[in-house]
Amino acid sequence: MAETTMDKIVSLCKRRGFIFQSSEIYGGLSGAWDYGPLGVQLKNNIRDFWWKEMTQMHDNIVGLDASILMHPKVWEASGHVSNFTDPMVDCKQCKSRFRADQIDLTAACPHCGTKDSFTEPRNFNLMFSTHIGAVRDEGSIVYLRPETAQGIYLDFKNVVQSSRVKIPFGIAQVGKAFRNEITTKNFIFRSCEFEQMEMQYFVKPGSDEEWFSFWRDQRMEFYHKMGINPSSLRWHRHGPDELAFYAKDAYDIQYLFPMGWQELEGVHNRTDYDLTQHQEFSGKDLSYVEQETNERYIPYVVETSAGLTRNVLMALSDAYEEETLEGGDVRTVLHFHPAIAPITVAILPLVKKDGISELSQKLERELREDFATFYDQGGAIGRRYRRMDEVGTPYCVTVDYQTLDDQTVTLRFRDSMEQVRVKLDDLVARIRLETKQYKRKEG
Ligand code: ATP
Repeated sequence: MAETTMDKIVSLCKRRGFIFQSSEIYGGLSGAWDYGPLGVQLKNNIRDFWWKEMTQMHDNIVGLDASILMHPKVWEASGHVSNFTDPMVDCKQCKSRFRADQIDLTAACPHCGTKDSFTEPRNFNLMFSTHIGAVRDEGSIVYLRPETAQGIYLDFKNVVQSSRVKIPFGIAQVGKAFRNEITTKNFIFRSCEFEQMEMQYFVKPGSDEEWFSFWRDQRMEFYHKMGINPSSLRWHRHGPDELAFYAKDAYDIQYLFPMGWQELEGVHNRTDYDLTQHQEFSGKDLSYVEQETNERYIPYVVETSAGLTRNVLMALSDAYEEETLEGGDVRTVLHFHPAIAPITVAILPLVKKDGISELSQKLERELREDFATFYDQGGAIGRRYRRMDEVGTPYCVTVDYQTLDDQTVTLRFRDSMEQVRVKLDDLVARIRLETKQYKRKEG
């Protein structure tokens, strides 16, 4: 099987309108990306899949959409002002900048090849700052949030008081986060502006290890449900040198990206660190009182923290295949799970004449109620199928002369390329069932 390289993914994304470089006509801006017509749909579908899984499928998780800009003290309390740094070195020769923990400092500069050219490592804070209001002074500094989690801690009390939630419960949030990353290579894997899907689960101290284990299982199960190849997913437990100073335990879910195993999501036992810090810095009581026992405590937090944009790259890498067909032809296909595919059903009239176009357009308008559809009547049917395979459309419906006689259409499956005849009246139910029962083919 042909190797899936990052170059192939980047090229497909540009060619078919998934992802473009930001500000491309001005030469681009590193670490920033635009999601095109298919990319935004894929991203939204992954977001919705996560949101449904976390909020709708659990009876004790509520949602939140906190502001990106927050009081500057938030980041002092959280430790980001003093600790959210990466060690950085510069090459004195070519001025390239690297993360000191990601390169061999005794080797030559990977960019220009000069030996002994690195500066001493310096700590570099990853938060972007700006000013709020008309006066640009120390007092008006605000930060673009580098993670969504802190907004959840700040509203912990508001949610408890307004939502009748009881511990254990969770708050879920999806939104943009910003980090001034020193190196942003590997396409959208590490960007300066990205999106996170985070859930903070508040538990009674002492039950945290049990919930930590529960959420690890849930989160891995989520990726299996999303149709991701299980052999490309693994756990990595943080060793003592990786563990954040406040964390009791931490595991990453890693995915085998084209450039190797890399973090996709973190599951962390953050103890009572964050709420305790915010209680201290704000002077507001953030403890929780158990109604039954009147017991008061600062809850522990088990966090599940996934990158949404990194999930998009994972979904693309995992789905991509160059399949050699009988006869030697190669088709490029994205095996997206139907629940996240940007287009679910394509409607393709076999010919344009004799009312077949009109019938197909009518069918497409009907199917729109239930699915993301696409209508294509241009070119040979084989080529139209290939175009849909390349963007990961799981189902194609072909309308032909037989449809006029017996009210049936051809339903063609992307992965197997099998075709079956289905009655128009049964089409919606059949596609729903196929989506529900979808199993990714092995390989
Ligand atoms: P790294 O060590 O790779 O910088 P991290 O451990 O700091 O990442 P977290 O702070 O745990 O990452 O963030 C949670 C998730 O957010 C990550 O698992 C990743 O999916 C996503 N994420 C973090 N930084 C970025 C980024 N710069 N671009 C895209 N996604 C990111």
